[in-house]
Amino acid sequence: MTSPARPPLLVVADDDPDARGLMEEELQRRYGSDYAIRLCATAELEAVLDEAAADGEDIAIALAEGKDGAALLAEMRGRFPTARRGLLIPWLGWSRCGVGELVLRSMARGWIDLYVIRPTRRRDEVFHRTISELLQESERLRGEGPAGATVVAHGSSASGHRLRATLSGLGIPHRTIGADAEAPPAVTLANGQVLSDPAPDELTRALGFPTELDPHDADLVVVGAGPAGLSAAVYGASEGLRTTVLDAGAVGGQAGSSSLIRNYLGFPRGLGGGELAQRAYQQAWLFGAQFRLTHRATALEPLDDRRIVHTDSGVAVAARAVVLALGVEYRRLDAPGLTELEGAGVFYGASMSEAQALAGERVYVVGGGNSAGQAALHLARYACTVRILVRGDGLAATMSRYLIDTIEKDPNIEVRPRTQVVAARGDGRLEALELRTPNGDETVPAAALIVLIGAHPHTEWLPGEVGRDEWGYLPTGPDIADWPLERPPFSLETSLPGVFAAGDVRARSVKRVASAAGSGALAVSDVHSYLALEPARWPVRG
Ligand SMILES: Cc1cc2nc3c(=O)[nH]c(=O)nc-3n(C[C@H](O)[C@H](O)[C@H](O)COP(=O)(O)OP(=O)(O)OC[C@H]3O[C@@H](n4cnc5c(N)ncnc54)[C@H](O)[C@@H]3O)c2cc1C
Repeated sequence: MTSPARPPLLVVADDDPDARGLMEEELQRRYGSDYAIRLCATAELEAVLDEAAADGEDIAIALAEGKDGAALLAEMRGRFPTARRGLLIPWLGWSRCGVGELVLRSMARGWIDLYVIRPTRRRDEVFHRTISELLQESERLRGEGPAGATVVAHGSSASGHRLRATLSGLGIPHRTIGADAEAPPAVTLANGQVLSDPAPDELTRALGFPTELDPHDADLVVVGAGPAGLSAAVYGASEGLRTTVLDAGAVGGQAGSSSLIRNYLGFPRGLGGGELAQRAYQQAWLFGAQFRLTHRATALEPLDDRRIVHTDSGVAVAARAVVLALGVEYRRLDAPGLTELEGAGVFYGASMSEAQALAGERVYVVGGGNSAGQAALHLARYACTVRILVRGDGLAATMSRYLIDTIEKDPNIEVRPRTQVVAARGDGRLEALELRTPNGDETVPAAALIVLIGAHPHTEWLPGEVGRDEWGYLPTGPDIADWPLERPPFSLETSLPGVFAAGDVRARSVKRVASAAGSGALAVSDVHSYLALEPARWPVRG
């Protein structure tokens, strides 16, 4: 689609003329010179959308009201994927019967991006702040930000996906233009520079992010720039430690791949993972943290009171202490339709905050482990049916007995062995799944698919002195099996003194953005305590 001079800002409004008038006036006065403000009744919407599509317009924002409005917004997602969709509610409306529930359900299913409180007066800055947030997000999705980039690649090519992932991780707004499958992918930057199939480090460097790594001495090296590493960087640098942060990719880690983090404290309408990562990155940078992106740590060597981190670029950094914030990777399910519907009914990891919103719905959980079992039990309190899909013959080999017993007693849960998801269908939200079962293929209606097929940490490169549990996670503090010194370990210290673990990679950690950020801060507090000691004088346990 070509970008029009003024992207439409669309309001579907069937309400009384006064409320409609105030809305139109507020939008027109504040945004009218940059956006085409269009108000229409529900009955006119189809024609308005057809016209916008025919003119190649990217709708910036669509606002609608009520249950029917939420359904209209859900339908728009497929046709105008970069439009940000807001459900209009009246001031104090969330306390009214049904409104709060509608907001919860609509957001959980990905029908809407935000709720928007109608303006109550002229210059209603609460209303305008929400509209500005939606416009900013829509601009980012359209790739029209100040530092935008254009990916020219075949839609489904892996290299196109890789380039988009690098740009997203760096917080660079971008758009994709389709190309022939045979043509090499390329990226055009805002300054006109064209990069042909660039490697991640080349692209990262071209965008002005720090990738040059010189051998140097730091007080603290943080490995991993997900929420835990970013938090360690903010606290380390702000508290006077010379801090270097290495990441194999960009910033944000798993959180960076989350379109909306809804349970992070202080962001009631949610926050894009990329946005959170960019804010934390800037914060750490402003405190003086040195970021070196696209460098994978490949070895960790204890050398007296120094810890040497070697990287795949052949450069090593020496530090007095190291925080390992390596995270985990959730295993992805590979079937047509799943990627498009991620966040709109398809969820990775236990998105338990969605459970209440799935009341009365048909929910599918993929996975036979304890996390899948716990998720199914929690969901069954709300959903009308929860079906657990497992590849094997049942749950006995993979799930704890107590969970299996509870699941067997729950009338809302059904276990479907030897069943796989082969496709997901839906227009803007998940509507149906295609399943391969022992009795043949079947299509089933579904409102949500929760995928819990395991996550794994990448800790195999660490030296033997850094103890790991049977799944590769890093025990710290009291959980360490073999501690070498007489002094007790600090709470987030691994079995190699001076090396700390934070976030998802830590054994028995809570896999959440907030806990990762919290443990990154705590790890720095431990680093200070550690550096206050004199390592050379520590007696080694005999
Ligand atoms: C799709 C999705 C949605 C989610 N939604 C939510 C949500 O809504 N709310 C919530 O609370 N949680 C959510 N989570 C979980 C949350 O994102 C994680 O708990 C959190 O990101 C963990 O942070 P972390 O810093 O420990 O690890 P990660 O975010 O995994 O970051 C680890 C970083 O370390 C880097 N790294 C790994 N190994 C090396 C190495 N050897 N050298 C250099 N760098 C390395 C990686 O490149 C990565 O950037 C979601 C997770 C996913 C996948």
